[in-house]
Order: sequence, then structure tokens, then C-alpha cells
Amino acid sequence: MASLTVADARERARVIAVDRYAVDLDLTRGPETFGSTTTIRFRCRVPGAATFLDVRPERLLSVRLNGDYLDVGLLEDGRIRLEALAEDNEVDVSADMSYSHDGEGLHRHVDPADGSAYVYAMSFLDAAPRIFACFDQPDLKAPYSLTVSTPPDWTVVGNGAAWPVSSGRWQLRETMPLSTYFVTLVAGPYHSVRAEHDGIPLGLHVKQSLAEHLDRDAEEILTVTAQAFDEYHRLFGIRYPFGEYHQAFVPEFNAGAMENPGCVTFRDQMVFRSRVTDGERGDRARTIVHEMAHQWFGDLVTMQWWDDLWLNESFAEFMTRRVCQDATAFTDAWVDFAFSRKRWGMTADQRPSTHPVAGNGSTDAASALNDFDGISYAKGAALLKQLNAHLGDEVFLGGVRRHIGQHAYGNATLADLLQAWTDAGAVDVQDWADQWLRLPGVDTLRLETLRLATETDPSGADTVALTRTAPEQFPARRPHTLTVAAYAADGSSRSAEVQVADDTTPVALTAPEPGEVLLADVHDDTWAKVRLDDDSVAGLPRLLQVIADPVTRAVVWNSLTYAVDDAALNPRTMLDVLEAALPAEQQDIALSSMLSWTNGVLRGRYLPQEEADERVAALATAVLHRAAPGTGAQIAAARGVAGSATDPDVLLFWLDGAPPDGLVIDPEMRWTVLQRLCVLGAVDDARLDAELARDRSAAGAVHAARCRAALPTPEAKAAAWQRITRDTAAGNYALYATCDGFWAPEQQELTAPYVARYFEEIPASTGLRTGWVVGEMSRLAYPRYAVSDETVDLAEAALGQDLATGLRRSIADQTDDLRRALAVRRRFSARAT
Ligand SMILES: [Zn+2]
Repeated sequence: MASLTVADARERARVIAVDRYAVDLDLTRGPETFGSTTTIRFRCRVPGAATFLDVRPERLLSVRLNGDYLDVGLLEDGRIRLEALAEDNEVDVSADMSYSHDGEGLHRHVDPADGSAYVYAMSFLDAAPRIFACFDQPDLKAPYSLTVSTPPDWTVVGNGAAWPVSSGRWQLRETMPLSTYFVTLVAGPYHSVRAEHDGIPLGLHVKQSLAEHLDRDAEEILTVTAQAFDEYHRLFGIRYPFGEYHQAFVPEFNAGAMENPGCVTFRDQMVFRSRVTDGERGDRARTIVHEMAHQWFGDLVTMQWWDDLWLNESFAEFMTRRVCQDATAFTDAWVDFAFSRKRWGMTADQRPSTHPVAGNGSTDAASALNDFDGISYAKGAALLKQLNAHLGDEVFLGGVRRHIGQHAYGNATLADLLQAWTDAGAVDVQDWADQWLRLPGVDTLRLETLRLATETDPSGADTVALTRTAPEQFPARRPHTLTVAAYAADGSSRSAEVQVADDTTPVALTAPEPGEVLLADVHDDTWAKVRLDDDSVAGLPRLLQVIADPVTRAVVWNSLTYAVDDAALNPRTMLDVLEAALPAEQQDIALSSMLSWTNGVLRGRYLPQEEADERVAALATAVLHRAAPGTGAQIAAARGVAGSATDPDVLLFWLDGAPPDGLVIDPEMRWTVLQRLCVLGAVDDARLDAELARDRSAAGAVHAARCRAALPTPEAKAAAWQRITRDTAAGNYALYATCDGFWAPEQQELTAPYVARYFEEIPASTGLRTGWVVGEMSRLAYPRYAVSDETVDLAEAALGQDLATGLRRSIADQTDDLRRALAVRRRFSARAT
């Protein structure tokens, strides 16, 4: 299917303007297809001209333009040409559409818990024509009125307020002007919680089998929602514009959530059926607040073309951290940002596929999705945080308010936002944008004690200096503003702020005393790799236990992992630091992040599995022993043990009713433990059948798929591979879980034949799937533990072929990880350091 190009989009927007859509959907036709009838009124600015309409039906029934029937056989590659347009036009399209099972289009899910069917619409990024006929591009906004026929026991919510007009027949209020990619509909026997805040009707929705879990957490969700509404109203100075505000937790959702105006859809794992860490609870709050930011920035004002998609995400990410920190109980927003978001973006920004935050030059919609990555979310957000600090609130928020006010219900570009900031009083925002937004790459910052001449002492004095090194392939002179501190052994510190404008910048700190450790960017303000010298690393096992600020500890942990990634720090030294300091950590975000990195990256990639196994398992056990019973830290540590244990008896003991004090083996923990038991060969298919009988939920079925793929038998691997490469009936979650469970460091011999098969068979299998699923499944199915030159050679050969966009990006990025692992193993091949 051709992806819309920017040239086609510009031309279409030049020729037409859309007045309104009326869409009627019939969801009563059984499990395969639904009826879709669309009437679009639109104007043509160049009467007599032609344009095209997007529609991707199972069967196109009729197309009528200004009363004349067109030949439905003229539908080609998802487009119908509309010719000889009048000044005012009406096109009516009637089609049978297929329900999807990949999380895009109109997704239909049958809950194995009770057999009930649920649907939701996901129109992002170019999936709207799988639901209704439309002019599918972000800058052709129009109001929508929907009518829907459903089974009688269903409820319906969507972008506009919905009400039943008769049994099984629903009408939705006409919306404000929306882009096609926001149009949604959530329908099924959903369980709902209704409330109101500040005149805004609120709704929460989830499938029946998760009803009790939503009810338990509804107050927390609604409180965060209300707090964020108040804060956004204060910051943006313009009220929420889309009427009711629904938050629907829907099954098998690919992203975390989608910001559809008035009706946000979330993945329903965010309705917790088991105990979670504080970090995960915070994650849900941050996702709620993120989607709310989009109601203004993204929905009310929308990017003109997909190349500014990053701006939506950067802005929402930054505002979320700020609003959560200032207005909600979830004040660990910047700790999470450091561990999860920054590391994601920093990795992306150092890959061969890196790109500038802005102006990535997406010439079609599909390539925009390719660059929708950690750079868009995390680097952009980190830069906006800096810009906010640099401009101050009056100018920063003043510019944002202007921007929203000027472009409400319309579209805008980065240039418009920069102009709005300039109009609000910013003086050098264009230069800032050139250095930070239009150049890719990460600077490395180091602190050194140098002998520098001074005015009073030309022979020189010991001076602390910060050196900045831009990546060779992307020279830049990026300014940084950050805080440098010298830490004494007891955790006390003296600090100085540094404005970095040159490659070497003196710091207003006297040279460190023996035993003091120098750290740069202790508040995690800038976007750079902080590289520590050997003396500082030697001081960390003690120091990490006494640094009070969790953000500073995150800076240190990130600095160490980046150094290992770059083969600049021996992974065994890293393991020494982890063993000394991690058990003292009680912040569950830090524990989850470091334990999963240690188990999933250090073990099996940077260090051979046989060498790392015992130490990694012992580390997780030590962390668990120190974690307070009943805390998020204990959950994080228990998952670490469950993921790395080498002795199945310990885990079997947990399942048989003797877990550590305070740890509850609820369904999610149970499956986490079972997956490890599968890898170790301590349970079999029959046991998994029994576990599935015990947990008949959709989540249970997905976990069982992961577990079966993890079993150490040729039959299990063959069955999993069949599902990955050939099974189109499997839902997207089951597919991802199968890919995820397939590889394990301890099963390399068993899975060796599949390394070459990945590069041979996955490219062919992507023809069975589209969009998001291709990138996600090919990333998860990549042979990530096959750390060898042969794998890199196979990857190179595959990349020489014609590949689907998402697949190419997955293979290139995963191969980049593999190359790093090879470099680390080469540099530090000996066990002794
Ligand atoms: Zn977003």
C-alpha cells in the first residue's frame, strides 16, 4: 500500500478543504467484517480539478460523487480518484471493512475470560481508511458525526458525546474539527466509571473481566486526571476544548496510549490485575498526563505534516514530567525520565540511524513512523526542559499560549512555534534550534583537573575543567548548562553551575581532595554522556550508597552503562559496582532498570552467559534480601530473581506457597516465575496448560505464548517459529510474546539454526503484516544473544536487500547493539581486569 507523500498531501490541501464527515458504522455483522458508510462534504478551490480519496475496504460497495456513481473497480492501492470537482462537493462511500487483529484500524478482540467481544478504532498514523473513507492527512481537519449500530448490550464512546437513540443504535455529537488520525470509537460491553471535574464529564472504560481492578484504581486515575486538568488550564490559559473526556483501557493496544481528542485509548495492562512497582503506578499517571497534554498540543493544534510528529511527543513528554512533579503525587517523574526515557533516546542518538530531533525530512507517512523513536520523545523533551529553564516561564509559556491561540483547531509547524517564542520575547531561540534540534549526536562531557594559567599565577594552578567532545561524524558546538559537584565519602557535596560554551570550560570548584569524587550534570539537566575517570569509578561502590538524590544516582548509573556500551568500561568492573551498591538502592525505578539491564544486556551480550550467570543471579538475590517486604522495591527485586535464577528449586518453592516474606505470587508474578522455569526446562507444556486453566484471562494467554516459546525443546522452538513467520491469525500481543520468549542466552545451541533463518524468513513474513507490527515483531524476534561476526555478516547481507521500512530499521538497530557487544567482548576478553 503506497504511503502518502508530503508532495501529494500539499497538493491535496491546495485543492480541497473538508467541511464535515458523517460516518455510519454497522458493528452487527459478525466477527469478520463491519459496514462503513461515509458522507463527506468538501469544497474545491480549483473547480474542475481532481483529487483522491483514501479507503481500504474488504469490499467497496459504492462510491457516489455529487450524485453520480463511480466505478468501484477504479479503487487502486487504497485510493479512489475524484475528478471534475465542483466548488461544493459531496462524496458518499459504502464499504464492507475487515476488523483488524493488529491493533490498527478497527481492532476486534474476544476476551478469553468470558467470550465477550470488544472493538476500538485506532486511526493513527494512516489507519483511518481501514475504518472509513477519508482524505487521510493531518492538515485536512473537519468535524465528524458518527452513528453506530451495535449489539444491544454494548456501550459506545468516541470523540463526541455518545447516546443511544434506540436499542443498539448510537449517535455521537458532532466533534470540533479533527485530523483523520484522531478519529476513534470504543464499543463493546465495556464496564464504565463516570465522574466529573470542573464541568468536564469524565469516563473510564475497561472490559468486564478487568472491572474490579478498574474500580479499585478509579479514584487514583481520576485524581491524577483532575490535577492535570487544573494544571494545564493554569499553564496554557485555555480550557480543555473537546467536551467530555473519556479514558478507555482497551485490549491488545500497540502503543502505551493514543491521544484521540475526547477519548484517549490506553493499553489495558494499565488496569493492574496484580501488584506493581511504584514506578509502574507512576508510569500510568505519566501516560494519563501525557495524553492530556496532547489535547492542546497535538489535537487542538496539530502538526501540518508528519515530520513534526516529534514536536507533539517532545512537548507532551516534557509537560508530563513537569506537571506530574508539580501537581500530582507522582514526584519521581525525573528519576523515571533519566532511567527509561533518556537511556532510550541516548541509545537512539548514537546509532547509525540517528537523525536530528527536528527536520528529519519524512517525505512520506511510513518513514515518519520510522523516526518515531527515543529521539522524538526523550531527546526532544530533554531539550525543551533546557529551553524552559533558559527562557523562563514567562517567555516559554507565553510563547506556547500564543502558539495554541493562533493555531487552535488548525495546523502549525516548528517554525510557527519558534516564531511564537520569539514574539513572546525569546532572543536567541533560532540559534538554539540550529545547534540542538537540527544536528544529531551526543556530546561527551568529562571532568579533569588541569594545570591552567591564571591571571594571578601564570605558571598555572590546579583547576577543575569540563571538556566537551562532539561526535566525530557530527561536529557541533552545543552549549550546555549544568551543575558539577565534588562528593565526599559521606555523600556531602560542594557544587558549581557551569555554562559550557567551549570545548574546555574551567569550573568554579577547587580541585578534589583525595577520596572525593567529581560528577558532572548532577541534576541531569543536559543531553550528554557524562564520562567518569578511573578514580571516580573506584569511589562509586561506596558513594552510590550515600548520594541522597535519586536523580544524581541515575546520572551515575547511566554514565556507567553508557561507558560499558562504548567499550570504555569493563563490564566486570560494572558488575563489581552493581554488587557493592545496588542492594542499598530502594528506589524501585532504579532497581527495575538496573536489574533488567544486568540480566538482559550484561548477561549474555556483554559477558558470556556462562561467566555471568551466577554473579547476576546472586546480585538479584542480594537485592531481594535488602528490599523491604511489601514494597515496589521487593517486587522489582523478585522479578530480577525470577528472571535470572539458575536454580529452579528456589522458584518452584515460591510457586508452591513459600515466597519471601511480603511477596505475593499474584498472576503476573506467577507468570514471570513460570517463564524462567520454562527457560530452565523445569516445567513443561502440560504444566502450562494447567496454569492457563488457572488464569483464563487474555493476559494469561499472552504469558502462556511467551512461556511456550521459551521451552528448551526443538518442538517448542519449531512451533514458536511457525507462529512468528506464518501465523496470521495470532493477535499482535501473542505474536510479540512469542518473539520475546524465543531467545534466551542459555539456549544458544538449541536456537542456533534460527539465527540464519531469522534473516531468511522474517523479511518474507512481513508481507503478512503491516505498520507497527512489522517493526515490533522483527525487533523482538532478532537473535539478540547470537553475539558473533557471523550474525553481523548475515545482517549486513539482509540489509543489502529490499526490506520493509520497519523491518530495515529493526535489523539495523539491533545489529548496532550486536556490534557494540562484539566490541565489548573483544576489548575485555579476559576475565581478569
Ligand atoms: Zn504522545
